[in-house]
Amino acid sequence: MTENLTGTKPGWNFDNSYARLPEAFYSLVDPSPVRAPKLAVFNEPLAASLGLDATVLQSEEGTAELAGNRVPEGAEPLAQAYAGHQFGYFTMLGDGRAILLGEQLTPQGERMDIQLKGAGITPYSRRGDGRAALGPMLREYIISEAMHGLGIPTTRSLAVVDSGQTIIREEMQPGAVLTRVAASHLRVGTFQYAAARGEQDDLRALADYALQRHYPEATNTENRYLALLQEVIGRQAALIAQWMLVGFIHGVMNTDNMALSGETIDYGPCAFMDRYDPATVFSSIDTGGRYAYGNQPSIAAWNLARFAESLLPLLHEDEEEAVRVAEEALAGFSEAYERHWIAGMRAKLGLFGEEAEDPALIGDLLKLMHQHRADYTNTFRALTFETLEGEPLFGTPAFAEWQKRWQARRGRQAESPDASRERMKRSNPAVIPRNHRVEEALEAAVREGDYSVMHRLLAVLACPYAHTTEQADYAALPPESPRPYRTYCGT
Ligand code: AMP
Ligand code: MG
Repeated sequence: MTENLTGTKPGWNFDNSYARLPEAFYSLVDPSPVRAPKLAVFNEPLAASLGLDATVLQSEEGTAELAGNRVPEGAEPLAQAYAGHQFGYFTMLGDGRAILLGEQLTPQGERMDIQLKGAGITPYSRRGDGRAALGPMLREYIISEAMHGLGIPTTRSLAVVDSGQTIIREEMQPGAVLTRVAASHLRVGTFQYAAARGEQDDLRALADYALQRHYPEATNTENRYLALLQEVIGRQAALIAQWMLVGFIHGVMNTDNMALSGETIDYGPCAFMDRYDPATVFSSIDTGGRYAYGNQPSIAAWNLARFAESLLPLLHEDEEEAVRVAEEALAGFSEAYERHWIAGMRAKLGLFGEEAEDPALIGDLLKLMHQHRADYTNTFRALTFETLEGEPLFGTPAFAEWQKRWQARRGRQAESPDASRERMKRSNPAVIPRNHRVEEALEAAVREGDYSVMHRLLAVLACPYAHTTEQADYAALPPESPRPYRTYCGT
């Protein structure tokens, strides 16, 4: 890193371990240059944590690297091969518009994928143009950084570069390149790809690579591939519980969008729920509601079953035994999920310890919220500060009854009311990226080139548990609209 001291180099410290996997897993391909790259947003704190020089990266030369116009020193650009079940149907896919530059070895000793999304055609582009539109890339930037602020494992966004090129979607749109930072881009679909090809040595190499990269402690266990399966199940159980606890709806939980690392990945038609309703769907293409809010835990379990299937040849030489251990591991998902979720719900209600009645207490509140169309985030926020107004729910006798039970439960714990409230403040965000606020920020940026609205939103979302007065504005619901909010995959 000494060269970094001169301030003329961005501080790239690439290794390219993925490129040392068997050839079938990738295609070497350089990003395609764009016409007139202009930096749209840049994440200085993230750059610093990666050991990168923010000033150099924001210069013309740095922007050229983030646009894909110049390959950074030490990078070995490639597109990853993978498969996936999309809405239940199996397809061979691969990075059709994303290019992995390499893995940045950070000053903290981490290994982080640096990927350019929207960087041009690859051998996996099929009929796509390899490009991304500015609006959706800014949207990924906002939501992924909001998830990070909420303390939920996620890929992050280092920068968005406006490409200075128009791309054709339903209408002409400005193009962009997003720099995505991830613990890795290994997906359930990467394993499905290896399993579908049927080369067991390749599958084993991939599994060993995933173990080494994400679960090194599991490498020395008796059956390390079973340990891999169990670890991935455990991390997904924790992740999905965290989504559910903040009302996040991913929107496209295809198996190619489920990361082995346990990070949230691929922000397409995702959005946060306003009024509590398990049937909430925002994505325009999810007409069957497959990826509705309330379905996310069972869809995760379904995806993990596909992961387990792809690992079968490694789990045991006897196929029946392999299936048995896989099923046993998969059975652990719902138990782990419930455990994380109930613990999170107790924290949201300021409860310490465990009582047998807790699940009913939690379930009854959610039922009332559903019945009275209560805003998910604001209801818990109101409970936290005991400012019980703004929701019709709070005026009902049924809620008064529930509130008595809740107070009695809190009264039975040794911890002080202050400790209980502190717990609630840490567990109930004051703000989430409300859809109308995100839209407003994107409108200003894309249509008027005014990024100030987006920067204000990002600042508020960076500290969602601060509970400051400035946040109050961002907690408000959109005006009631006859048309439900829709998100589009047209990316
Ligand atoms: P996603 O819905 O973003 O997870 O993408 C699903 C698949 O479609 C991935 O293999 C992407 O690389 C590919 N894809 C999406 N958009 C494009 C595009 N504009 N050009 C080429 N491939 C794309
Ligand atoms: Mg994807």
